[in-house]
Amino acid sequence: MPELPDIVLLAESMNQALVGKTIHQVQVNQPKVLNRTIPTFKNNVQGRTFQNFQQRGKWLLSRLDNDWTLAFNLGMGGELRIHWSVETPDPNRERVVFYFNDGDQLWVHFWWFGHIHLIKPGKVQDHPQVGILGEEPLCDDFTVNKLASMLEGKRGRIKSYLLDQRFIAGIGNVYVQDILWHAELHPNRKSNTLRSDDIKKLHHAIQHVLKEGIRWGPGPGEQDVWGTRGQWGKQPGWPHIAYRTEKPCPTCQTLVEELRVGSTTSYICPKCQK
Ligand SMILES: [Zn+2]
Repeated sequence: MPELPDIVLLAESMNQALVGKTIHQVQVNQPKVLNRTIPTFKNNVQGRTFQNFQQRGKWLLSRLDNDWTLAFNLGMGGELRIHWSVETPDPNRERVVFYFNDGDQLWVHFWWFGHIHLIKPGKVQDHPQVGILGEEPLCDDFTVNKLASMLEGKRGRIKSYLLDQRFIAGIGNVYVQDILWHAELHPNRKSNTLRSDDIKKLHHAIQHVLKEGIRWGPGPGEQDVWGTRGQWGKQPGWPHIAYRTEKPCPTCQTLVEELRVGSTTSYICPKCQK
């Protein structure tokens, strides 16, 4: 499932490839991925132009020139891909196809979940999933003090808070591994036992790891709108610990261990993350 860095890279590529393109026609092959009826969707989307694309949590938001917003959620294994006019989409694979005036096409493939929601002008904050998203961890107002106050009185495991989209938006089970390793925190650590030094390190780790993801990504299985893959596992030292069971910790050479925390798997260095 794409996380913040993957969506940032996808949005950047879509800004380059699709802004200014006018949607001539939309073909909906799987109506349940929409939050509107097909006629309402088409009435508000056909003839409109993409203004911009931006990441919000694990969602990709696109504003149209009528101020409606298209909110894409790729679920797991989803793809948004640009294709040339000569190509023909497979209606059993592509859930929705956008045809542009210049002949280009945007194919939307979902594998496990995936949504395209059309949101009325000015109503993004009222959307049941986008409106409840928490802090954007790369925004200027996400400071150490803010993180400290967010964690105040929280008694659960630190990993659970990092994955909670209402708390911080955009982190999932891929990038959280390196974040906890950088911060030298065990995923089961109780949040209210973090001292101010720990919070400072965690804040730095969140921003550092997400920026690394943007630099070397997209992450495993993810691609931008042209189908470009990232350097996952190829760029030496990236990732540091995520999905590297039995490989040495880059700091102390202890072998990385895999453990189950709640319903997710964690990868830890048992020496660095006590
Ligand atoms: Zn280590």
